[in-house]
Amino acid sequence: MIYYKTDAEIELIRESSLIVSKTIATLAGLLRPGITTLYLDEVAEQFIRDNGGVPSFKGFDDYPFSTCISVNDAVVHGFPTTDTLKEGDLVSIDIGVFKNGFHGDSAYTFALKDPGTAAIDLMRVTKASLYAGIEKAVAGNRIGDIAFAVQELTERKHRYGVVRELVGHGLGRELHEEPQVPNYGKRGSGAKLNESLVIAIEPMVNLGKKDVKTDADGWTIRTKDGKPSAHYEHTLCVKKGKADILSSFAAIEVAEAANTYLVSGY
Ligand code: MG
Ligand code: MG
Repeated sequence: MIYYKTDAEIELIRESSLIVSKTIATLAGLLRPGITTLYLDEVAEQFIRDNGGVPSFKGFDDYPFSTCISVNDAVVHGFPTTDTLKEGDLVSIDIGVFKNGFHGDSAYTFALKDPGTAAIDLMRVTKASLYAGIEKAVAGNRIGDIAFAVQELTERKHRYGVVRELVGHGLGRELHEEPQVPNYGKRGSGAKLNESLVIAIEPMVNLGKKDVKTDADGWTIRTKDGKPSAHYEHTLCVKKGKADILSSFAAIEVAEAANTYLVSGY
């Protein structure tokens, strides 16, 4: 069952999504070698609660943290830990916020100087693939048009591995609603996109092969070949002509550029 949203509900999802964006921007200002991802998780939870929200992920299927922080070969669902970040790490931060009965969901991958050109290229192309997907998220298209656009840029053009096991999703009152939004697929296939459908598009793209495995913690997804992975996610609403992106990278990118420990402008 696909739930289309009213304009009022879309504004509530925007509010939750923008708290996610501000939380990630706050963490962007703190990233540096020597800090722990558990510290970032604590800051994020406090920031979300200070803004009247609840971390969507905490307690979701018994997930124990407020954030997913996935470093290097961790693709998504990484546990925050007491391990310290180090130079050259790729750090993917995924956050959900629940407020006023609605969820927002967004993710961004940062690089601590300097992971090398291959990893930076991966980040650039993965972020570009998110926007290539969003460009197709317009009324009259199908889910497969989004999926194809992401896969076309990342896998066919750049020979990266697109993760198959995890996909984007509808969201609203629930963090995960129908339809699923894969990052691979055929043009013109799948569910029709109608106005007022809210979805999260989230390419998970590996520098090496597409294959992943799950850690013993039951959550952390890693690349099988140990190569790094990148992940960017926006929550957006399907419209005629052009999607309305409900989360925002603007403040995140400003914070990224201002933090001299981070690669920016890629
Ligand atoms: Mg997410
Ligand atoms: Mg998501």
